[in-house]
Amino acid sequence: MAIMPGAVNKLLANQARQGLMKSYQGVCLHTMVGSLAGTDSMFEKDGTVGTESHFGVGEHGEIYQWVDTKYTADANYLGSGHVISIETADYGGSFGRWNTAGDNVPYWNAAQIAAIVKIIVWACTNHDIPIQQMKTVRDRGIGYHAMGVPGNELPNSLRGTRYQWSKYAGKVCPGKNRISQIPEIVRLAQGGAASSDTAPAPKKEGILGMTKYSGGKIYKALQALTRGKWKSLYIGKGSMSILTCDGSPYLAQVYLTVTGLKPDETIQVRFITASYKKGTTTKNNGYYAKQEQHGSGGGTYISHTQIGKTSKGKNGRSNRLRVQAWTDSKTAKITSIQTKFLKG
Ligand SMILES: [Zn+2]
Repeated sequence: MAIMPGAVNKLLANQARQGLMKSYQGVCLHTMVGSLAGTDSMFEKDGTVGTESHFGVGEHGEIYQWVDTKYTADANYLGSGHVISIETADYGGSFGRWNTAGDNVPYWNAAQIAAIVKIIVWACTNHDIPIQQMKTVRDRGIGYHAMGVPGNELPNSLRGTRYQWSKYAGKVCPGKNRISQIPEIVRLAQGGAASSDTAPAPKKEGILGMTKYSGGKIYKALQALTRGKWKSLYIGKGSMSILTCDGSPYLAQVYLTVTGLKPDETIQVRFITASYKKGTTTKNNGYYAKQEQHGSGGGTYISHTQIGKTSKGKNGRSNRLRVQAWTDSKTAKITSIQTKFLKG
């Protein structure tokens, strides 16, 4: 039996008719074009006869396990005997109703990222999979569906092999927005694996035991950047602080829209902690790893996520979580910013 602790047991009938996994090459991320409830009822109806995945992640970070990872799940076509599959919700609720005809899947939210990280850490630890991003469909580690799709990233020479992950040509799953979040997710999972001995056991309430959630408003204001210099960003009118640190763990996420960033230019984004006391100079005292992205001609969209834990300030000072950006562009400007966090 290979059932993830903390996952809701939704094991489909007749698990054993799936056959055993042949190897554990990696973990593959998918998107549902639907909700967790809708996908669950479809899977339950067909049982293991139809297509199903090992895991499902809902809009609020709920984790369902449909197939014991000892057995195969059919989400990866000819690769199904080699990869653990995770389906993720993307439609309705806070995702809204979007045009499913193109490549418009919305970003994973913070609660989903925390859940995906949790599954990756469990699956990789239990099945000896390296926590690294697959660069090609033949690598081991964390990958996504489109890597093995004919007419998308699958090389023609690998059609008909275990690396063909879809019968249908041109599938974009899980979509460009979500694919752009995978390096961050892998980085978080690497941290999670390294510290799992010392990390406190997750409480029952909330993802990773986090109970407080703040879904920030979108702040639409033009913020100029200074070429070659890190700059703290305003996340609302007159305010730079996302949260005040109190020693409890947090997961923070920022979405940025940038204009004027050319394709050969880059922007870097990172979270920092700053020591603040009214009437004194604010000092930056902690720096998290940065994420880099190239310009994409028109608007460039960036999503950056951080898990952290910062102590309370001392001597009347408080530690504030902030976000900074750096660019080598003369023309790049931030046009909108949104921050969210889970804490506690
Ligand atoms: Zn898929």
